[in-house]
Amino acid sequence: MKPDPEAIVNECFPNVEAKIARAGGSMLCGWQLWEWPHVLVEAEFHAVWLSPEGEMVDITPKPHGETRILFVPDERRRYDGMVVDNVRMPLRDDQVIRHFIRVSEAIVRVMNRGERASQYGHVSVPAHEIEPLLQVQNLLGQSLGLGLRDHDPCLCRSGGKYKRCHGRRLELMFGL
Ligand SMILES: [Zn+2]
Repeated sequence: MKPDPEAIVNECFPNVEAKIARAGGSMLCGWQLWEWPHVLVEAEFHAVWLSPEGEMVDITPKPHGETRILFVPDERRRYDGMVVDNVRMPLRDDQVIRHFIRVSEAIVRVMNRGERASQYGHVSVPAHEIEPLLQVQNLLGQSLGLGLRDHDPCLCRSGGKYKRCHGRRLELMFGL
């Protein structure tokens, strides 16, 4: 990794395009892998810069200042201006993790509905469409952060187990 002084956090595609315009080289697309230990692995569509000498350089700064990433090049994929959602794989069989993944996918779908799909950076989405999903994602993210599983008491403090409380509601919401 060698974050470029002019590169913007998370905006790998515009960053690499700008770098090519300044210094030549080309764009290599692939997957940047993030692990949330015991919870999930997330593969994020990502571009690095191939220098004119053929060196692979990740010029995009990371949100939390990480200095190393795992990057898997994927020669079949090209950046076409459209948002590509992350691929998320659960690391154990648990309803809380499955629901977290489902709601995260739903959020990306809402954020990228229609013409929003080709907008990078800040997109404005009506609050009533996105807020309920963000609240659920937040509840589930906190639950997973605390190590809660589907047979543990639901974080909403209803007193019921997750699978009988929010778990059941979300099963209905996602049509499972
Ligand atoms: Zn609940």
